[in-house]
Parts: sequence; C-alpha cells; structure tokens
Amino acid sequence: MKPLIYLDNAATTKTAGEVVEAMLPYFTEKFGNPSSIYSLGAESKEAVTQARETIAASLGAKANEIYFTAGGSEADNWAIKAAAEAYEDHGRHIITSKIEHHAVLHTCEYLEKKGFAVTYVDVDENGIVKMDALEAAIRPDTILISIMFANNEIGTLQPVREIGELAKKHGILFHTDAVQAYGQLPIDVDACHIDMLSASGHKLNGPKGIGFLYIRKGLRLRSFVHGGGQERARRAGTENVPGIVGLGAAADRALRIMEEKAAKETALRDYLIQRLETEVPYCRLNGDRHRRLPNNVNFSFRFVEGESLLIMLDMEGICASSGSACTSGSLDPSHVLLAIGLPHEIAHGSLRLTLGEETTKEELDRVVEVVKKTVDKLRAMSPLYEDFVREQKEE
Ligand SMILES: *Cc1c(COP(=O)(O)O)cnc(C)c1O
Repeated sequence: MKPLIYLDNAATTKTAGEVVEAMLPYFTEKFGNPSSIYSLGAESKEAVTQARETIAASLGAKANEIYFTAGGSEADNWAIKAAAEAYEDHGRHIITSKIEHHAVLHTCEYLEKKGFAVTYVDVDENGIVKMDALEAAIRPDTILISIMFANNEIGTLQPVREIGELAKKHGILFHTDAVQAYGQLPIDVDACHIDMLSASGHKLNGPKGIGFLYIRKGLRLRSFVHGGGQERARRAGTENVPGIVGLGAAADRALRIMEEKAAKETALRDYLIQRLETEVPYCRLNGDRHRRLPNNVNFSFRFVEGESLLIMLDMEGICASSGSACTSGSLDPSHVLLAIGLPHEIAHGSLRLTLGEETTKEELDRVVEVVKKTVDKLRAMSPLYEDFVREQKEE
C-alpha cells in the first residue's frame, strides 16, 4: 500500500481531532433537544448559541444574523430563491457569474424557468469577474448580485469589496458563496457590503452536512423550511446540535490558525506551481497566479485526458480532482475552464491539487515525480501528441 497523499481539500477536508472531540458529547450524554425546558435541553441550546456567536464574530456579524443550514448548497439555494421571491415586486433580474458553483448556477437556471431574467457575467482569462461587464449588466429591475468569494476549481479570488460597493450604490442585494473562502481568508461582511453569505463546515475541517447562511438584519427573506420556531422560524427542524457544535469549533480553530496555515500553504502552493511549470512541458497554470486561494493549484496538460490522469494518480495513492465532471455518461469539461477561454481539449486535460494543513513538501515532491511520469506515459499513448512532436521537428 502506498501512503495516501490527499490533495483534494477543495472537495472536502478531514474533520480536525479537536472538532470531533467537541462534537462527541452531543451525540451521547448531552443529547437534549435545544427547545426543551429542562436543563439537558438548555445545555444543547447553550452550545448552539455559543457556536452562533463564534461564527458571527468571525465575520463581524451579529449572532441573530447567522442561520444554520445543512451545508453550502442549501445556503446558496435559500439566499437566491428567497431573495428573488422577496424582492420580485422591485424587479425580476439577477446577476451572477459564469464560474459559480452549480449550487448557484442551477438555482439561477431554476429561477429563469420561473420567469426571472439572469445575466451570467464574463470573467477574464484568470477567472476574475470583469467589473465593467458587471456594472453594464445592472438594470433598473436588478434585485440581486450573487458572486462567489473564491472559486472552487481555479482558486481565483473575486474583488468582493468592489462588487459589494457597486451593489450598494445601486441598491441591489449582494450574496456571496464564500464556501471556499470562509475559514481560509479573513472576511468582514460590513467592510465588503455583503448582505448574504454562504459557508459550509466540511470545507474548513468541520463536519459534513452543516453550514450557515449569514442574512443581514432587516432583509425580508422567507423561511427556507416551514415548521417549528428554530432559527428564528426561518429554518424549522430540530437543530443538528453535534454538527453546529462542530462547525463552531471548526470556525474557532480556523480563525486561530488562519495566518500560519495560509502562509505555509501559500509557500507550498508556489513551490508546487514552480516545479510543475518548469518540469512538465506543455502545461498551463489556470487561475490568477497571485489572487488565488492559498491552497489551490490547477494545471492543464496538453494531450492528456484528465480522467485518465486521476485514475493513474489514484493508483499511486494520490487523491486529486480534474476539471471535468462526469455527468450522465458524457464527459463535460468544466464550465469554469471554458469560461476562462480554454478550448475543450485543453480543459479536458486539467488537474486540481488543493493542499491542506497536513500537506508536506515531501508529499509534493512525490506528486511532481508521479505527475511527470504519468503525463509522459499518457502522452506516449496519444496520437495527437505524436503528430504534434512530428510537426515541431519539421519546423
Ligand atoms: C463545496 C461547495 C459548495 C457546496 O457546499 P456543500 O456543503 O457541499 O453543499 C458550494 N459552493 C462552493 C464554492 C463549494 O466549494
């Protein structure tokens, strides 16, 4: 058995030991329902309150602006659908970008079927939203701008503060999917004029199936789940107490180690980028070299098929991700890579490596060796590469 090298932290992260420790009692002796009157329930309620306060403080928000959800996808769905419904008397136009997560894109497509108009603004070749295109897309009936904080595939950071200022200037709501950024980068909802923000526990060494939506006080958003009075009657259902406790512990921990972790990951990220760029011919770094998440590396290798590369990396114990998603049997290249202008065949040969706090330089050295060897092997089987090499020689 080869030792496992986990480089898919954008897909999910390992729950930190101290987070698991914090959660455990809430499965067993502290199992009370937070709505119950007796002290067993009160104990759970207190734990939920604590987590809510920790998370609010991490964003410069107030505790009553944090609503727990079952994760990032639910928070995105809630924010966009509820904002559309609440403000449709003002207009039925929404602006988002071409590189959002599917939880945002598919929600917008759903609203288009309901009669809303959606503008999907372009990004530049590095995946940064074009501010002039964004401003030009604003119409008198625009009610919502939803642009992600950081992209999950290519790691690009968006000019969130400028977008927030633009939205505010025009009296438009601003939602940001911060699932990749929350816990990795400092975020201040007031400084960035963010009205709604989505985050998810399992992307910051917390548990899966728990996240939150920040909703600025005063927004008239409808309930996501109707029922009991939990989450200020906006998201009914008995609270996922262990999950909420875990999310709170993960947020607290992320904030504590943020600076050190980001510095370490940035250095390793740049080392990996530099080695791949210099040692693998015909490759391309996707995303902005500097304005990117500390842990994100994304490359395209010409004449290589991403899925084959992943399978061969898996055989070497390396967990990574590619730019194509296998949907209903057909291999569609990533919408993000197409939006930054990559042709289909190059988008297909992409590899995303996302580092974590346990990633070491030795692991990356091994990954570089395996990628070099594997890319060579795959190219040796490619007739296109053979033609390409012949043409190069003739020139
Ligand atoms: C992972 C992710 C989501 C979905 O979060 P879940 O908690 O898995 O539902 C949404 N947006 C982005 C940018 C993500 O990376």
